[in-house]
Amino acid sequence: MNFRGVILFAAAIGLLQFPVLGRQTKPAQAAQAAPEPIIAIKAGKLLNPETGKAEANQIILVQGKLIKEIGGKVAIPAGAQVLDLSKYTVLPGLFDAHTHLCMTVLPDRDHGNYYFTTLLDTTAFRAVQGVSNGQAMLESGFTSVRDIGNAGNYGDTALRLGIENGWVKGPTVVNSGIIIAPYGGQFHLQPEKKDLATPEYLFADSRDEMRKAIRQNIHYGAEFIKIVVDDQRYIYSVEDIRFMVAEAHAAGVKLAAHCWTHPGAHNAAEAGVDSIEHGFQMTDDDLLLAKKNNVTLVGTEFTEKLAGAEQHKIWVDRLRRAQKVGVNMAFGTDVIEAVGGETRGTLSISFIDSWVDAGVPAGDILRAMTVNGARLLGVDKERGFLKAGLAADIIATAENPEENIQTLKKVSFVMKDGTIIKQAP
Ligand SMILES: [Zn+2]
Repeated sequence: MNFRGVILFAAAIGLLQFPVLGRQTKPAQAAQAAPEPIIAIKAGKLLNPETGKAEANQIILVQGKLIKEIGGKVAIPAGAQVLDLSKYTVLPGLFDAHTHLCMTVLPDRDHGNYYFTTLLDTTAFRAVQGVSNGQAMLESGFTSVRDIGNAGNYGDTALRLGIENGWVKGPTVVNSGIIIAPYGGQFHLQPEKKDLATPEYLFADSRDEMRKAIRQNIHYGAEFIKIVVDDQRYIYSVEDIRFMVAEAHAAGVKLAAHCWTHPGAHNAAEAGVDSIEHGFQMTDDDLLLAKKNNVTLVGTEFTEKLAGAEQHKIWVDRLRRAQKVGVNMAFGTDVIEAVGGETRGTLSISFIDSWVDAGVPAGDILRAMTVNGARLLGVDKERGFLKAGLAADIIATAENPEENIQTLKKVSFVMKDGTIIKQAP
């Protein structure tokens, strides 16, 4: 028996326990377990964000983690737990496509500079923060997030595994591991302390370094690759980005590109990344190029409260132009600051205001927060839609968000993978 034969044999008889950093799609089956109880949700209105249409008086049967049946003529089986949401609009859980759950910048301590945060907080501490922030997101109706970097030494992978194993409650996490960037990452180091960007960034300037950084991330549990294109004077070229997109795609993961400047966003759009993050200074031509190359914009349009009036205006203008051009957009927030009286969830949901300020219709905002997010995260075959066989990630609101998008700011009910997180009053 050769080495591979030994490994296969050992695996077959259960001697080897392979590490489980990858997504666990098949939960372990308990032998001859009793059928799981059924929850029947009576939905006053059932809203499909994809079409914008709501149907009255629908029934959703949930068994285990999945939606078993859904429709107007579904019979409620005897013994089912009935949840009466007949006064509410029921819809799929929300997606935030740009989070940093394992980072909380404390204004008093860190003075708004997250470099200090990374120096003071350990990865273990940050993973625990991730749990807390994740729970807050769930409470606010976000049942899935794409968590893209700034999680120390793979705190995001630990968070994802903790949630997937059911040890802690939280949203579905699609994580990127460590951010890959040109020398210096997003910091401005001083030469006596060159290592202080470790483990926050993987510096990758040559093609070998780029390939290795991508492979390292995937090995340690990343499900998306995040690059920072343009936070130094030297930025990634179109060819650099194309190389990394190809390397990521070859391993079956997508690539997100942080672009703050016009030249950075232009390069990323031309290279055909899966998503451009921020795109703060994108011109109409950049937006058109992104549209042409099927790039999703995750614009992280900061609210006036978080960015100040002047910056907020620039974000809103870019969002308005992106909407006009028709580039595909997913809702993303980029919140890292702690704000008194708010949670990570309430701060994130408040970004709706920027979309409203930009004049984006409610239906488009809701699509950016649901189906577009699901597709960008690559989980749309499992969740993000209310259909039989998909995950029971379900929220309910007092009003129909198509008519009043603000109702999303206080979701009345949250179910995550069939478990009730927030019970309707
Ligand atoms: Zn970010």
